[in-house]
Amino acid sequence: MTNDYGSGLLDARGRPLRDLRISLTDRCNFRCVYCMPRETFGPDHAFLTSDRLLSFDEIERITRASMRLGVRKVRLTGGEPLLRDDIETLIASLKKLDGLEVAMTTNGALLGDRAVALARAGLDRVTVSLDSTDPETFRRMSDTRVPVARVLGSIDAAAAAGLGPVKVNVVVRRGVNENSVLDLARTFRRSPVTVRFIEYMDVGSTNRWQHDQVIGAAEIASTIGAEFPLEPVPPRYAGEVARRYRYLDGGGEFGIIASVTRPFCGDCTRARLSADGQVYTCLFAGSGTDLRALIRSGADDDAIENTLRRLWSARSDRYSELRSHSADESPIGPRVEMSYIGG
Ligand code: SAM
Ligand code: SF4
Ligand code: SF4
Repeated sequence: MTNDYGSGLLDARGRPLRDLRISLTDRCNFRCVYCMPRETFGPDHAFLTSDRLLSFDEIERITRASMRLGVRKVRLTGGEPLLRDDIETLIASLKKLDGLEVAMTTNGALLGDRAVALARAGLDRVTVSLDSTDPETFRRMSDTRVPVARVLGSIDAAAAAGLGPVKVNVVVRRGVNENSVLDLARTFRRSPVTVRFIEYMDVGSTNRWQHDQVIGAAEIASTIGAEFPLEPVPPRYAGEVARRYRYLDGGGEFGIIASVTRPFCGDCTRARLSADGQVYTCLFAGSGTDLRALIRSGADDDAIENTLRRLWSARSDRYSELRSHSADESPIGPRVEMSYIGG
């Protein structure tokens, strides 16, 4: 089968569809305070039952349809993607699709033992989330008993297995882990791992986000720059999400994702597929489009493609830009949780 790439499909703001984030489960073995606070995601929380999850075959069909509309890269995420059984089988089947890049974002707890198998299945790259190298700060931020040393070991194992260049995502939240910014910069300077600091975002509605908990890109860069002189690096391509900085002494680079202080909606080419088959055209959407119901009603691949085409053509989302211009800081109502929609 040949794929009709580059169909030129654009949304209502002229943005192509290029990336699909696929959530494999809404469950997680961590309870990060900014994502799945334990008071909401405790024993009484109703997670998706397995019959509601998309099967691997359904995920592959949706991916194939989205590739015909321009998708070149998928990122497996969640929840914690490594909690889904046998994802090596899914990765191997996605890698058979012509030219598709397959990446994964994980908290790293289960990655060390799986890195070689994931690489053998065809996974191209991993991003590991790690908010501090200090054991106590890590525990406070991620609310887990998994020791930080295990996540650090997973980063090394991933690099050794060929899942690089490994990226490390750090959510920076004032009052919790701002003192970890410099430690993380020090740890990964002069290493093949690229750290990306992420401004704390108002995703979902359970983390009780407040603007004053955000540490902006300028402050992150000046904190690191005070110890290690640096300069901004020009973007490699239009629409690069992370703003990159280079250490002047040759110690490498790091990135900052300034979703709050410098929104990049104008270049947003991502759709998200929840574990139960809802497609969302924005991380801050309140509702999605049910592809699982469509597939389970017997729809063929053309019907999936046409639904996606209609959805993307009508898309005009730019939530983060609206938030930055909004006096009340929250320009829309309730929205889905990041652990469900796929971070
Ligand atoms: N469990 C995996 C992990 O943590 O890498 C994958 C899913 S997680 C939702 C994906 C990414 O979203 C992580 O890097 C996490 O730090 C980020 N994230 C979650 N909540 C966030 C928030 N409120 N603001 C910014 N980033 C957030
Ligand atoms: Fe789990 Fe990732 Fe959310 Fe942390 S950020 S609670 S590891 S899904
Ligand atoms: Fe894309 Fe929505 Fe985020 Fe803007 S707010 S960058 S449209 S996901």
